[in-house]
Amino acid sequence: KQVLLKHFIPEGAPKETDMELVTTGTIRLRVPEGSNAVLLKNLYLSCDPYMRMRMTKHEEASYVDDFVPGADVKAKSKPITGFGVGKVVDSSHPDFKTGDYVWGLIGWEEYSLITKPQGLFKIHHTEIPLSYYTGILGMVGLTAYVGFYDICSPKKGERVFVSAAAGAVGQIVGQFAKHFGCYVVGSAGSDEKVNLLKTKFGFDEAFNYKKEPDLTKALKRYFPEGIDIYFENVGGPMLEAVLHNMRIKGRIAACGMISQYNLEKPEGVHNLFLIVGKRIRLEGFLVFDHYGSYPEFEEKVVQLIKEEKIKYLEDIVEGLENAPAALIGLFEGRNVGKQVVVVSRE
Ligand code: NDP
Repeated sequence: KQVLLKHFIPEGAPKETDMELVTTGTIRLRVPEGSNAVLLKNLYLSCDPYMRMRMTKHEEASYVDDFVPGADVKAKSKPITGFGVGKVVDSSHPDFKTGDYVWGLIGWEEYSLITKPQGLFKIHHTEIPLSYYTGILGMVGLTAYVGFYDICSPKKGERVFVSAAAGAVGQIVGQFAKHFGCYVVGSAGSDEKVNLLKTKFGFDEAFNYKKEPDLTKALKRYFPEGIDIYFENVGGPMLEAVLHNMRIKGRIAACGMISQYNLEKPEGVHNLFLIVGKRIRLEGFLVFDHYGSYPEFEEKVVQLIKEEKIKYLEDIVEGLENAPAALIGLFEGRNVGKQVVVVSRE
């Protein structure tokens, strides 16, 4: 079984009817000898906002390839790809053996043949829930780690604001910032999420941005002396409001702007000139450039998990057939925590 994108989506929220679950027939559970390939049984899939961008056809090269819609290549059954966790069922690559668990880019399908397995990360800590490698111990956790510690250049006592704070990246950034000794406020789109931020994740304050008629005023309430660090996950009106509240020499880590991903033309930011007067450093980053930090990150965060010094919340959906709805849910804020899809538990 595989999930295909049926056609490109120029703009607007993706719908379940834009994707389809197909059965491709039988497959050989062996990789060709000498091919260096690895065959995975897929266990957990990660739903990530950047996957929306891959559903639109781009004329200019982007940092990720567009998906190849199913209607064009049905004979070859090219599924949607994304981060996930799998178990090696056969390997002709010297670094991987049958029974190993790995995470990396895999297909939205029951089994994936990985022809370039050097891009996969071997999972060493199988005592931790394997699904964590779609999130806190995988690409998402590393994003929070390099985004906060490297891009934000934090100092103890600084005032940090995190948007989409109850999501996959946001919940981890907020906790890193608290451990570091910062004052941390998060925004989220429901009262349930706001409550989680304050009670489970230890944010100092949190607010429901959907209930705030004026985001600039809301931020002023929580940051009367201004924001030193903004961890940007949403863009749009929130970024506008943040710029008005930033302190001189503040830093903005531009991690993502989910409010823009369904738009054909991204919204403009009217007050960008504020970064000049306030000498703000606004820096975009991509986690892919920081994979070299993975081993150091993994050991630190595994320790934090084992010592229960970091909390982690997953939103788990069962079944490959439910993956399209789970992905779409990110753009409606339906996920509470990291959105994971279970293909198989073993
Ligand atoms: P989340 O788990 O946070 O899920 C997305 C959340 O975004 C939703 O739950 C919803 O929460 C919020 N949201 C959806 N639409 C809007 C909107 N229009 N305005 C404001 N908020 C909205 O996702 P991730 O943690 O995986 O990703 C967070 C950000 O990090 C994304 O922008 C993503 O692209 C980026 N990212 C960047 C990486 C990099 O290398 N730079 C790597 C990984 C992620 P709510 O209910 O609060 O609205």
